[in-house]
Amino acid sequence: MKKIKFKLPKQLRKEIVKDLERDHDHAYERVGFILTRLCVTQTQELIIAYKFCPVADEDYVQDESVGARINSLAIRKIMQTALTEKCGVFHVHIHAHSGKPYESLSDAEGIPPMMESISRINSKEKHGYLILSKNSAFCNVYSSDYQCFIEPNIYEEIGYPMNFVLSDKFKSSLELERNKRQMFLGEDSLLLLKEITIGIVGYGGGGSHIGLQLAHIGFENIVIFDGDRFEESNINRLVGANYSDIKNCTRKVEIAERVIKDVLPTANVELVQKRWQEEPEKLQKCDIIIGCVDSFVERQQLEAEARRYLIPLIDIGMDIHKSNDNFSISGQLILSLPGDFCMSCCGFITDKKLEIEAMKYGDVGGNPQVVWSNGVLASSAVGLLMDILFGWSGLEDRQVYLSYDGTLGIMIKHTRLLATPKECKHYLLNLTGPPRFIKI
Ligand SMILES: [Zn+2]
Ligand SMILES: [Zn+2]
Repeated sequence: MKKIKFKLPKQLRKEIVKDLERDHDHAYERVGFILTRLCVTQTQELIIAYKFCPVADEDYVQDESVGARINSLAIRKIMQTALTEKCGVFHVHIHAHSGKPYESLSDAEGIPPMMESISRINSKEKHGYLILSKNSAFCNVYSSDYQCFIEPNIYEEIGYPMNFVLSDKFKSSLELERNKRQMFLGEDSLLLLKEITIGIVGYGGGGSHIGLQLAHIGFENIVIFDGDRFEESNINRLVGANYSDIKNCTRKVEIAERVIKDVLPTANVELVQKRWQEEPEKLQKCDIIIGCVDSFVERQQLEAEARRYLIPLIDIGMDIHKSNDNFSISGQLILSLPGDFCMSCCGFITDKKLEIEAMKYGDVGGNPQVVWSNGVLASSAVGLLMDILFGWSGLEDRQVYLSYDGTLGIMIKHTRLLATPKECKHYLLNLTGPPRFIKI
């Protein structure tokens, strides 16, 4: 059975909560519908929430026995939307407490039959319902194969920090061992380390530090993308490589696997010895991607794909500049979070830079790199990754664009962040999911 994953951008959650918390004349509570898109790959069914549809005030029926009852017109409207938008539909309402919510008796009687009948309208998509609490959620997805509702293996809210809900079935099937040294990451941290998938794109100076650290932390599912083989000039920065790799022209992904498995033999390390564009499904299943690529055009393509599948992308990179007789080192760490600013919004990727890069095509990627500053940037990226996943710092809605001065050894918030818009116009939430070609 394929793994079912449900993703909701926090931006959309905020919109939903704001709407559903409004008072109504006679209904005790409000309900609404979330529109979703399904992306199926060999291993997973990914459900992406992209839009909220409130129920109109006049479509609530007066009924004191339940919190909210909507009329048949509201249901017909949402069925029509499912048809015209070719989307999935999830009923949503709120339980105003903390912790994982569960359906009440009246929820269980009213919502599943309604969603089951809505699901018949468009069986190519997934339908179901969602209950949001203050800090968690309960999600149930209708499976036409099994003719019943099932909890997704993993429910994700995309934001800073992310929020994960693992299915209860999955939880009880794992023994709850404790990793005492990392207990500050929270009780579910061990389960998450086993369940989520991290992608590393580019296994060179930066990527190799990251692979090693992910293994030490205990990430069980890592996908490595790199098409190159190891050569002599890489020995100055690719950690975990050894001298015989030069003679053997070892594939970089194989060095990754060796290093990770030496630390964590149980890790499931998937190697993609190609450009990710040749096997996009492997990228699409990642929950977070760390991009360690050389060029702006690679960054732009990676970011576009990550946005489509609501995957947070952490980008790192460094450069060495010559000025007169001396050298300076600079770098950046950027978090491209779906729903927030992108690398074009913050001025890191510009048409001008892409143009200059295209002009010196073939020369790109040969930039000098050194092991120590790659280590600083990679370690900072892993720290950021851990905070997004586990929220250990308590920071919320943080925007990250850090500028690294490798000469002075400092990392500071980039000044461009002050002028960066909070909302991205380059990647719209309602354009998530695989590209769709509409006949005109
Ligand atoms: Zn309820
Ligand atoms: Zn943007």
